[in-house]
Amino acid sequence: MDQRITELDRNNKPVSLYGEFTLTGNRKVRYGVSLTERDLIVQRLPSTHAWRNRLVLNLKDCVGCRAYRDSDSPDPAAYLTAYFYPLRRRLVSSGATRQRVEQCFRLAALQEPCANLEVAEMWAGAVRERAAQQHLRDGGSKRTLPLPFRMMLLVNPQSGKGQALSLYNQHIRPMLKEAGIPHTLIITERQNHARELVREADLSQWDAVVIMSGDGLLFEVINGLLERPDWEEAIRTPLGILPGGSGNALAASIHHYSGGLPASSEDLLVSCGFLLCKGIVSHVDLVSIHFPSSPRLFSFLSLAWGFVADVDIESEKYRHVGAARFTLGTLVRLVSLRIYKGKLSYLPVTEDSVSSEGLTNNVTLRCNNQAPSGQRPPSSDSLCENSFHNSCHSNNGLKARRTEARTCRNANKPLSSPPDSVLPPLDQPLPRNWVVVPEEDFVLMLAMYQSHLAEDLMAAPGATLNDGVIHLFYVKAGISRAALLNLFLAMEKGAHMTTSCQYLVHVKVLALRLEPSSAKGVITVDGEVVDYGPVQAEVHRGLARLITG
Ligand code: ADP
Ligand code: MG
Repeated sequence: MDQRITELDRNNKPVSLYGEFTLTGNRKVRYGVSLTERDLIVQRLPSTHAWRNRLVLNLKDCVGCRAYRDSDSPDPAAYLTAYFYPLRRRLVSSGATRQRVEQCFRLAALQEPCANLEVAEMWAGAVRERAAQQHLRDGGSKRTLPLPFRMMLLVNPQSGKGQALSLYNQHIRPMLKEAGIPHTLIITERQNHARELVREADLSQWDAVVIMSGDGLLFEVINGLLERPDWEEAIRTPLGILPGGSGNALAASIHHYSGGLPASSEDLLVSCGFLLCKGIVSHVDLVSIHFPSSPRLFSFLSLAWGFVADVDIESEKYRHVGAARFTLGTLVRLVSLRIYKGKLSYLPVTEDSVSSEGLTNNVTLRCNNQAPSGQRPPSSDSLCENSFHNSCHSNNGLKARRTEARTCRNANKPLSSPPDSVLPPLDQPLPRNWVVVPEEDFVLMLAMYQSHLAEDLMAAPGATLNDGVIHLFYVKAGISRAALLNLFLAMEKGAHMTTSCQYLVHVKVLALRLEPSSAKGVITVDGEVVDYGPVQAEVHRGLARLITG
């Protein structure tokens, strides 16, 4: 029996589909199932106590729903299964984690097997459609990938503790199947395999390129895309990240932006898998990084020198402990705390350079379709979208354009990928509107463009996906070991800026230059070691796209 009714649910929302089914395991007990705009409500019948024996599943938590029947069976019944990942409180520690809930119903009201299957399919379609619309109900305006989307999934089997493949089989493969998302699994064979692959791939075959590893594999993919002759189109490919490494900072940032309480390892993986299935796409900032003698790179997370870079690299040997390698590395490096000498300069964010919408010079340049001479202007279609478009015509946009006209043009060799707008060549002096940090003795320099430096380190709590801002932190020499340890402990909750530590400085910048003076040292970009020596960086607001939720 399947009927439409107009009763109101608990939240006074009209029920738009109602049916009475049994569960697959127990055909004796019947359930009234209601689908509203927001929930799937399962009520055991008879419902003498209206609010008892009732399960309300929020469609926001639903990744998929399917209808099927056993064609070999004489039983005319069809089945309907919906998959939810609601947040549940952790029993042993604080916070919440997503836990899988499967609801499976048997539909046997009609004699004809095909008719039962048709009803089940109608239900499955309605559940999927409403689940996909939930982010719009909250006023969301972001783009969603059309379901099902075609996904290239790159897994680094060596990342983290070497368990990425088994984590994929345990959590991700079943979840993608439930969500009806077809994917092609590619297991990377060596460093730079993914980079070469995306550089050559026919991207028209894919709606999304997703990596399962640490941050290092996404670094390869982004740089591979920007090395293509068609970089402008290629970098618009929605990218995704599933934490399978030891440094899962971007995954932790995405989880944090989605409103999730701190999560690690498999809890974080399930959360990111869930967000991936939802397929909501946002713009994400990239930062171009220049070196004296090697090609420019693009970074999505961080540029580090001093303490943080040393810990990242020295902790490689503790890889077997997973994400805890950074805690261990921090303690070891604290014992042999060092001072790093160099010159640090930056172009601060001003009201002129970033409007209330976060419009930077870069975006203005692109919307204006002006590019430094010899460089190809990006198409207005690819870069003037959504809020950016409006900003281009605002007063702030005009002001930013005037500011741009005063700043120096990039005189580097013509680049095939996106032009920089505020950086002079690395061997040229900086313009007068740059700030030179008076100190030359540091314990660390850390430039962050997303919130998390590691699963449990919220280094830049104020960072958002595409604000067009680099959060530059530096710690001056003179800080005690105890005070530095305190900073890192406070960073777990993103509270280090509230410790009033006089050695820690935070400034929002559009670009920076670092000129280390010691002959040897380590600089990392997104956790990967790069050439040691002078380096400079500039933010490119919203250049790439990321599946975020
Ligand atoms: P983790 O967070 O565990 O360090 P990453 O994703 O950062 O994981 O990967 C670590 C390094 O491994 C990166 O430099 C990446 O380019 C490299 N890599 C990718 N695939 C492979 C592979 N199959 N074998 C060895 N190294 C690889
Ligand atoms: Mg890494």
